[in-house]
Amino acid sequence: MVENVIVIGSGPAGLTAALYTARANLNPLLISGNEFGGQIALTNEVENYPGFPEGITGPELVDLMKNQAERFGARFETDHVGEVNFQTHPFQLKTENGKAYEAKSVIVATGASPRRLGVPGEQEFMGRGVSYCATCDGFFFRGKEIAVVGGGDSALQEGLFLTRFASRVHIVHRRDQLRAQPILQDRAHKNDKVNFVWNSTVHEIRGNGTVGAVWLENVVSGKSSELPVQGVFVYIGHTPNTQLFRGQLDMDEEGYLKVDERLHTIIPGIFTAGETHDHIFRQAVVSAGYGCMAAMETEKFLAELEHQGYKVAG
Ligand code: NAP
Repeated sequence: MVENVIVIGSGPAGLTAALYTARANLNPLLISGNEFGGQIALTNEVENYPGFPEGITGPELVDLMKNQAERFGARFETDHVGEVNFQTHPFQLKTENGKAYEAKSVIVATGASPRRLGVPGEQEFMGRGVSYCATCDGFFFRGKEIAVVGGGDSALQEGLFLTRFASRVHIVHRRDQLRAQPILQDRAHKNDKVNFVWNSTVHEIRGNGTVGAVWLENVVSGKSSELPVQGVFVYIGHTPNTQLFRGQLDMDEEGYLKVDERLHTIIPGIFTAGETHDHIFRQAVVSAGYGCMAAMETEKFLAELEHQGYKVAG
């Protein structure tokens, strides 16, 4: 069976693309990746997704999006695409579970993953004090001191969430000005458990079995110091999950896919949506919008194929 459209990725972009292509009667297949829902599923509280005045948890939002797409016939496979061939049509995809698919069109919505610090100790203590997900791991730090690295929205939002568990949250930022939105800055400054460590970078994570301290360097004075903490949460931005497409799709030096204003990649029939190409806004609502756009363009592409005599069944 040749699929009309395969959506790769299950964040807001992928789920919205599945919803729109399902409603266009294209019978889409969404291959979710190993962690359903992407980054938003790891977010404890989503306060700025329109339609939820009281806020909603990330996992709940993802569930609702999935149910909505399913209601119109979208199909879901929990699997990870490990290989693609976009040089042939129908396009070919292979998954880590050994399945092979063919598709007339593909919407790449593989999103982005947390960037790593790349310092000694980070890999060693991953899962033993080093984390990239406060929602997943915050509970283990009840009554403990932790460091949160970064000065953006994620660092502050997740740092504030962590104050529910930790006795003290040290936000370690490489500058003395935050990038985060003012409302989060205001909340963080008013929270007694939050301590800012300015102009500092983490050079090493140390411990004995589990994290015991971070070794900091003050970028202004050049002085090093040790901050005793039992946990390190890293929120220093993201890297797009596009390695799989290297050599087949155009991308910039950071790995963001190059697209036109209608989300077409260089290969007709391959579209992308969300944080694979958007390095500016990176909001769930924006990704959902891109998912809608990619789906509508896919529909047009398939209509054109059908016009040329290629069967596109619902
Ligand atoms: P971000 O906005 O890119 O911020 C990354 C932070 O990490 C910056 O403060 C940056 O410092 C710092 N950083 C980067 N590389 C570093 C390194 N190697 N060592 C130390 N620090 C480093 O990433 P984000 O906070 O994850 O946010 C991503 C996007 O999601 C943004 O568009 C954000 O608005 C959005 N978001 C929104 C919400 C919300 O609306 N509530 C919540 C979470 C995320 P500099 O400031 O010096 O560059």
